[in-house]
Amino acid sequence: AFLDRIAAVDGTVKAFLHVDRDGALATAAEVDAAVAAGEELGPLAGVPVAIKDVVVTKGLPTTAASKILEGWIPPYDATIVERIKAAKLPILGKTNMDEFAMGSSTEYSAYFKTLNPWDTGRIPGGSGGGSAAAVAAKMAPLAIGTDTGGSIRQPGAVTGTFGAKPTYGGNSRYGLIAFSSSLDTPGPVSRNALDGALLHEVISGHDPRDSTSIDAPVPPVVEAARLGATGDLSGVKLGVVKEFKEGADAAEPGVIAAYEAGIEQLVELGAEIVEVSCPSFTYALPTYYLIAPSEASSNLARYDGVRYGLRAGDDGKKSLEEVMSLTREAGFGPEVKRRIILGTYALSAGYVDAFYGKAQKVRTLIKQDFERAFEQVDALISPTTPFIAFEFGARTGDPYQMYLADLYTIPTNMYGGPGVSVPVGLSEGMPVGLQVMGPVLGDDITYRVAAALES
Ligand code: GLN
Repeated sequence: AFLDRIAAVDGTVKAFLHVDRDGALATAAEVDAAVAAGEELGPLAGVPVAIKDVVVTKGLPTTAASKILEGWIPPYDATIVERIKAAKLPILGKTNMDEFAMGSSTEYSAYFKTLNPWDTGRIPGGSGGGSAAAVAAKMAPLAIGTDTGGSIRQPGAVTGTFGAKPTYGGNSRYGLIAFSSSLDTPGPVSRNALDGALLHEVISGHDPRDSTSIDAPVPPVVEAARLGATGDLSGVKLGVVKEFKEGADAAEPGVIAAYEAGIEQLVELGAEIVEVSCPSFTYALPTYYLIAPSEASSNLARYDGVRYGLRAGDDGKKSLEEVMSLTREAGFGPEVKRRIILGTYALSAGYVDAFYGKAQKVRTLIKQDFERAFEQVDALISPTTPFIAFEFGARTGDPYQMYLADLYTIPTNMYGGPGVSVPVGLSEGMPVGLQVMGPVLGDDITYRVAAALES
């Protein structure tokens, strides 16, 4: 049914870069056979999933929406894909995204734009716009995204879907095409918190192949989502971040109205709301745009025209350096080049202490703000993003305007804790998301609050 739905609407929405009809049907047939044989299966066996194209899938094209990886067929699976396969979820295909997960609108895909199913003149968010649009248009009940600064939560917010960025290290990065290794986190995209929690539990847990993977029990997110669905939040204390409501950091009025209606609902469900101050959150965006490009400039050095995909200008006469340079010139899009230049500059001798080093110090201050906040409250709440889905082209001319989409989601990545986005209402007929941020390994509280809001 989902493959039929893809055939019917993806010509318009364009959420998928690659659809694996045969692979999905083969897994579905395996599940049927296992059911017939009376085998014990997990709760998501047979439930299809779409996977963001930044996650490597054995035998299936994986490009990270970049021309530099066009034609590359990975010889192995990411850990999270191995786990999805072991749990027998049919993989529908690979979803569109901003090139190398850099962007907030999916307009930086090197292949094509993905449209927001709510209004096809508007962006589906990014970088994981394909995964969010696939779920919003009911082409997939579940999808995988990755979140470095907001790429699961912001597309979730602007497409009316649920998205969770788990605790950093809770889900393996092995087999994720690296953007910013100290921030990248894979997580679920779904129609509601319980579905997301079920997928979360399939993919998470310690992985010895990822040196930053946490060796601790997986937070009980399914149980928490079920508890939240009872609609009782009595005894739960939620903090509203004071600094997010002020000056240039304020959201547009329609977003604030939907968010405040959400707060009222949380109070009705029994939650106590208090205001907390996190003064360093104001510096999260500039801090991120030093740390993430710095790590990206290092991670993207591997695309040299020798190891993967594209090789340009190799006429047998040019030097190795010339071929590398021509390959990178042709293979990377403008936003990726901007990040490489920014990151290389911030890391260069003479500047590294002033830019990268300083950013790391501010990152620690942001972390301390979170830790202080969680001494007072169980979770923090905010709008997910300051504005609703914007029209195509509205923010591509000015990178800073595009970067603002992640104003409220980036602090969580700086800290390493979990954050989810749950639909909370509409503004101008477009979905608005409410973000719930929890302490490190406190993913369960974020699911509980989100599920309560849906109840
Ligand atoms: N929009 C942010 C960026 O462009 C975050 C992207 C992400 O989370 N992958 O870097």
